[in-house]
Amino acid sequence: MTQPFRWYPHDGERHAIPVDAGHGECIETLCHKELVMDTGRRLRCEATCAECDSTWRAAVGIPPQSRRQAFLLDPLDRSTATSADVPVEASR
Ligand SMILES: [Zn+2]
Repeated sequence: MTQPFRWYPHDGERHAIPVDAGHGECIETLCHKELVMDTGRRLRCEATCAECDSTWRAAVGIPPQSRRQAFLLDPLDRSTATSADVPVEASR
């Protein structure tokens, strides 16, 4: 399943952005923050933006997840990869 969004570090949190955003593009996060895409930025251990998370889930039909479950998934999600593990979580 192809995810329409990916996580991107911005302003101390990780926000969801369109997966096809290119370097230097002006983009908008799912929580309506505007930023200029820098493909050199990498996720570290930023907290997940709750609004982006819930908007992403609503967009792809995944039920809400507890913060603890989200935290347990985060350590594996450091790359530019989308949250491919989310659909697995939703099937429980
Ligand atoms: Zn956000």
